[in-house]
Amino acid sequence: MVVTRFAPSPTGYLHIGGLRTALYSYLWARQNGGKFLLRIEDTDEKRNSLEATKAIEAAFKWCGLDYDGEVIYQSQRKEIYKKYIDKLLEEGKAYYCYMSKEELDHLRQKQLENKERPKYDGRYRDFDGTPPEGILPAVRIKAPTKGEICFEDGVKGQMKFRAEDILDDFIIARADGTPTYNFVVAVDDALMGVNHVIRGDDHLSNTPKQIIIYEALGFKIPKFFHIPMILNEEGKKLSKRDGATNVMDYPKMGYLKEALLNFLVRLGWSHKDQEIFSLREMIELFNPYEINSSASAFNAQKLDWLNAHYIKTLPAKYLIEELKKEDIFIENHPEKELLIDSLRQRSKNMIELAMGIKSILDEPKEYDEKAVKKFINEEAILLLEEFNGELLRDEDGDYDGLLKRILAKHEIGFGKLAQPIRIALTGSSVSPSVGDVIAILGKKETLKRVENFNKSFKETK
Ligand code: GLU
Repeated sequence: MVVTRFAPSPTGYLHIGGLRTALYSYLWARQNGGKFLLRIEDTDEKRNSLEATKAIEAAFKWCGLDYDGEVIYQSQRKEIYKKYIDKLLEEGKAYYCYMSKEELDHLRQKQLENKERPKYDGRYRDFDGTPPEGILPAVRIKAPTKGEICFEDGVKGQMKFRAEDILDDFIIARADGTPTYNFVVAVDDALMGVNHVIRGDDHLSNTPKQIIIYEALGFKIPKFFHIPMILNEEGKKLSKRDGATNVMDYPKMGYLKEALLNFLVRLGWSHKDQEIFSLREMIELFNPYEINSSASAFNAQKLDWLNAHYIKTLPAKYLIEELKKEDIFIENHPEKELLIDSLRQRSKNMIELAMGIKSILDEPKEYDEKAVKKFINEEAILLLEEFNGELLRDEDGDYDGLLKRILAKHEIGFGKLAQPIRIALTGSSVSPSVGDVIAILGKKETLKRVENFNKSFKETK
């Protein structure tokens, strides 16, 4: 069974790069009928916060990526880590190191002076003397001193790390007993049964260390996939200046989760030249072995295009539900579907859609001055009166037909009548099809708005 996980450190909000990693892990688990687990790496008490954990969980909820089982918190697993540290000590695969901070600093300085790579010199590796007094020891793992750590990365291909170049007996538990980062990641992944680790390639240099821990504890080494970072359009690391990096800023800006997930899945993976992927298709088609090994760039226009696509094509019922987040409640409106359909073609995001709806449903408090100047005169008011008269008599609800009859009678162009009606109904000369607006508002409301407009025009004369 494929088991993947997402393992954020709760130091702030969920970054869109993090969401992409989570999405990839999620898709791969779901495609294989496996498990997708969520682990909160909250061992760094100084940098972690509960709010950050909550923010991450809220972002997950918004995206609809459901994880299996309970969330795992590293902060609650201290006993487990201790057990495995003790095990390694007992088996002679790890040892106490009594070097003081001063000694370590001194060693480091000397190595730097000699232009050597700073590393622990192994002086307590085979120590069997009497430990110095008053020093709380750290625990170090016995790392290989020669040879290579190799693994086949699912994205990057064959990876080789020479032990001499990169490894020393690194610390797995600090003097205060707290386990170190690479140790807990490896222990957790192994105990959680994670066999496909998909993560950012900023963790690539941790992997040989984690492999050493796997081997020392006799755990099976998972398959690793290290995915390149997301860059900005200039090819630099994506930062706040390039747009929102916080996942939860996207709903605030009117993006649908369908668009963001579709955008993220394509950022680093592709399937022929397909651009649109429903979540179902992503689950069916995504393959971590096909992840691009070079970094991909964030393209804001593409995201906007996808968002507009989903607004155009998702079922009206779904958008009506989503609009509740924008404080638009139209589920009981008799023309709710027409309302959505008349506006969705022109809405780039949910905020625009919400504004469009408000501009129709809310009675205008004022009328756009420029539009009034351009389209309203005595003749227009007479036409509006005539329109109201016809509408009052109308029985069949064919508003487009009604408009056409008036236009034909006076031999005038569509705008001559449509624009005054638009202004009277919505306060502005931009709106969806006038026939639709009338149908949405209904006969009574339309009559009232036109009348109010005519009255206000006459009052200002
Ligand atoms: N906690 C790490 C991070 O937030 C991820 C660790 C991992 O995926 O192995 O970057």
